[in-house]
Amino acid sequence: MSILPNCPKCNSEYTYEDGRLLVCPECAHEWSLESGTEDIEANKNIKDANGNVLNDGDSVTVIKDLKVKGTSLVIKMGTKVKNIRLIDGDHDIDCKIDGFGAMKLKSEFVKKI
Ligand SMILES: [Zn+2]
Repeated sequence: MSILPNCPKCNSEYTYEDGRLLVCPECAHEWSLESGTEDIEANKNIKDANGNVLNDGDSVTVIKDLKVKGTSLVIKMGTKVKNIRLIDGDHDIDCKIDGFGAMKLKSEFVKKI
């Protein structure tokens, strides 16, 4: 059984293979699985704790208590974070959390809603 990746454009899971291309039936995006193509380089595959691909604008929940560096604040497990923005780096999610303000999170500690 082969597991196909979600559509890099709309994150649909109903992608199918058409020869050497993958096709998304929901937004009609076509792309190649072979590495080194522009399509793949343009899409950083940042995944949440469950392996779901995250996109700018997604909402996530925090899956464990996270200490905020340099403070005594803790972002509690289950905290909802809306409208995330994916960035490069060790902490790959840029977001604003109610009561905390601008924050950077690691994708491995969140779960897509
Ligand atoms: Zn799509």
